[in-house]
Amino acid sequence: GLGVGGGVALVLVGVGGVWLTRISLHPIEQSYHRLMQFTADASHELRGPLTAIKTSVEVMQRHPERIHPRDIKKLSAIASATTQLSTMAADLLLLARMDADTIGQSPQTVLLNPLLRNLVELYVDNARAQGIELTFTESAIVAVIGQPAQFNRLFTNLIQNALQYTYQGWVQVRLSCSRRHALVAVVDTGIGIAPQDLPQVFERFWRADKARSQPAGGSGLGLAITKAITEQYGGKIWVTSTIGSGSCFHVQFPLANATAVKPRSSQPLG
Ligand code: ADP
Repeated sequence: GLGVGGGVALVLVGVGGVWLTRISLHPIEQSYHRLMQFTADASHELRGPLTAIKTSVEVMQRHPERIHPRDIKKLSAIASATTQLSTMAADLLLLARMDADTIGQSPQTVLLNPLLRNLVELYVDNARAQGIELTFTESAIVAVIGQPAQFNRLFTNLIQNALQYTYQGWVQVRLSCSRRHALVAVVDTGIGIAPQDLPQVFERFWRADKARSQPAGGSGLGLAITKAITEQYGGKIWVTSTIGSGSCFHVQFPLANATAVKPRSSQPLG
């Protein structure tokens, strides 16, 4: 698998993008590496034209008197679509960077208690500034097998979403376990998800209409990545939600000491 007895990936993260230099990689790692490089390059290449569009739109918006009234609305639509594209490009770059972090890490026993506690601590001030109480509850010591960077990414996505789509109340990260599984729930008192939207939330680039209309939105990639990571470790993810009162994202993984089979090796996400 990736990072286990394979080659060494040298990662250089610069101002403009990510460069990945490889030294004798295993064939699987080579194709994975190529995909990461493509992701990094694509997002980097998108930035130039996007900045050009953005600048032109801003210049035009500064002189509304030169624009036909009928076109004013179209111009702001172009502006917000451009912002959306920039977010996606930035997310893709982030994705490539995080993949680069993961490549050298071999699957190991990961204690979820400190990992989740640290993440919650990282976001607790942001949450408080937003008027939301973010808490962590643990009812067992829980260990799973995988790459810590991947678990961090997965739970960061869920916590960030919960905070992004909650305007009042609280967000709770709950860790527990059953006989064979680690269970993590990220529960919020946010806007919720409509029943007809529930099957779509884990699809790539899907966003609810409400989320789409937000000026500072994400790319719709977060939950697709979250799901890919979960399944990579033989886990499951599902969501229950009531529109207007909140959502609960559940993640389940085989416990480290209950895992007879080794987790599958890293695969390109997507
Ligand atoms: P985004 O970058 O838009 O947050 P995600 O893939 O993380 O992308 O989420 C997809 C969509 O699912 C979001 O746009 C939003 O409509 C919905 N969603 C995700 N998490 C929540 C949540 N905790 N509460 C309400 N809606 C959510």
